[in-house]
Amino acid sequence: MVETDPYSREREEMVEFQVRARGVRDPRVLAAMEKIPRHFFVPKGFERSAYEDRPLPIGEGQTISQPYIVALMTEQLELAPQDRVLEIGTGSGYQAALLAELAGRVISIERLSDLADKARENLARAGVTGVTVVVGDGTQGYPPEAPYDAIIITAASPSIPQPLIDQLAEGGRLIAPVGPRDCQDLIKLVKREGRVEEIPLGGVCFVPLIGQFGWRGEGSL
Ligand code: SAH
Repeated sequence: MVETDPYSREREEMVEFQVRARGVRDPRVLAAMEKIPRHFFVPKGFERSAYEDRPLPIGEGQTISQPYIVALMTEQLELAPQDRVLEIGTGSGYQAALLAELAGRVISIERLSDLADKARENLARAGVTGVTVVVGDGTQGYPPEAPYDAIIITAASPSIPQPLIDQLAEGGRLIAPVGPRDCQDLIKLVKREGRVEEIPLGGVCFVPLIGQFGWRGEGSL
């Protein structure tokens, strides 16, 4: 880290009391969360809130998710070091930074170009390499790099977009919030012999996934 880190203690406490104490125990996930400076991924002026037990606004009506939810989703992806991962909903880039710590290659798609630009800036400042941020409608996936060993959707949709299920590799895991527009069920899909097994992980509240295979946006989408 080039910059000195006044938040290392708060980060350790976040990992211990919000993440580990609630049952996320994968040492690689805990180490990644101890390493990545979450305060680089929140807007200026919010740094002191970066390690609180809640989501925070990142502009454009979007949010960086609560640390525990990020941890839970990351652990459930069961990443191996060589895995190829697709994230839908780059937002701040924080989740993508963790994925890059644990996997080989990360593609992250963001619909809003201003957020994508900011995320690239945040990732560079945090010294994270190995994430490619793409601007587009992530409900269609990203065929050029498919199939993916893991897919994480960090915005909520009425159902899991079929293109993403199609772009999941054999043995691949997909995590997504699915359900009504305000709060949803977190769902894990595992693809085995071409079939998908569905595992419910509990209730969550995410911002909407807006696109061809998600919700319709206001205006033209
Ligand atoms: N993972 C993020 C938080 C995501 S918030 C983080 O770590 O900070 C959800 C994001 O999904 C928002 O930035 C929103 O603009 C984006 N989004 C919504 N619909 C999308 C779509 N169809 N394709 C790509 N991104 C989308």
